[in-house]
Amino acid sequence: MRPTYSVLRDRRGTDLSLETVADDLKACLQPRQSATCMNPDCNEECQWPEGRGRPPLFHHRLCHEKYHLIRRRLLAELVDIDNALEREPPPASDERVYLENQGARRRWLLLRYPDLTSGDRKEGTGSERAHGSLLDQAGSG
Ligand SMILES: [Zn+2]
Repeated sequence: MRPTYSVLRDRRGTDLSLETVADDLKACLQPRQSATCMNPDCNEECQWPEGRGRPPLFHHRLCHEKYHLIRRRLLAELVDIDNALEREPPPASDERVYLENQGARRRWLLLRYPDLTSGDRKEGTGSERAHGSLLDQAGSG
């Protein structure tokens, strides 16, 4: 079994020049060539491409569609829940507890559906970017 990258770096002692990073990366224990499909309900694996192809996030187009469908649904429900909590006159206390619980459940599920449009990937539509910032707000509250 190959040593990990950090072990190789440690062996170099104080000689941690950046010229040796690529050598150590080649020699070290390699990261996985596969990862599970981004659809939380799917157990299939996606393979890192051999060439320069785009690494797949979903093992199948249907998983991609299901992911975005569920994500959109959860975000839309969360908007309604948050609006209902902020309405005037405010909801009764038992209704507030219920709404807060339902909102927390959707935020908990949405942790499994991160915004895939961030970074250099161009996936989904531009409208999802707006929802992404909404989720950030939701997470901090
Ligand atoms: Zn899948």
